[in-house]
Amino acid sequence: STTIGVFALQGDVREHLAALEAVGVTTLTVRRPEELARCDGLVIPGGESTTMGKLARIFGLLDPLRERIATGMPTFGTCAGMIMLADRVLDGTADQETIGGLDITVRRNAFGRQVHSFEGPLTMTGLAEPVHAVFIRAPWVESVGDDVEVLARVEGGEAHGRIVAVRQGNLMATSFHPEVGGDARVHRSFVDLVRSA
Ligand code: GLN
Repeated sequence: STTIGVFALQGDVREHLAALEAVGVTTLTVRRPEELARCDGLVIPGGESTTMGKLARIFGLLDPLRERIATGMPTFGTCAGMIMLADRVLDGTADQETIGGLDITVRRNAFGRQVHSFEGPLTMTGLAEPVHAVFIRAPWVESVGDDVEVLARVEGGEAHGRIVAVRQGNLMATSFHPEVGGDARVHRSFVDLVRSA
């Protein structure tokens, strides 16, 4: 069977476990390298990316994560998890450390400090119907490398056209939180990616 881990040192771990279980895979919380080793794929949740980076280093998970991702482990990052997968971060803290792997530049808290959260329907490549996207102090993708496929852009408003979902090989990331709201389609497409990897 397919085992998908959720990075569990910080962030909204339970919501991702529930969404993955709804899709029907075996789940595992990942806090240690031994747990990471058992995963066919990994989700990095929303939360606080600076803290995630610090804890990943302290728990000896940062280099194992970089190794697994470099050797092709499918990984899906949401919000802070997107920041963790980004090769380049704007408006990060001075000591911000990411895992990297995705050839993107993200801007933290990009929608403005006053905009804590907003939500709405979002058209996403590969999904027949729009997804209900929940953004919470979200990053956007400022720019992407040649090998990155853009899966979704904000439609309307001041952030119109901003990139909020991407894929590059076995890596996927969204600025928003598909784990919130009971729609498991984005998780299902990640599970499909894991199974085909
Ligand atoms: N603003 C957070 C960060 O920079 C991300 C917010 C979230 O994951 N909901 O890490």
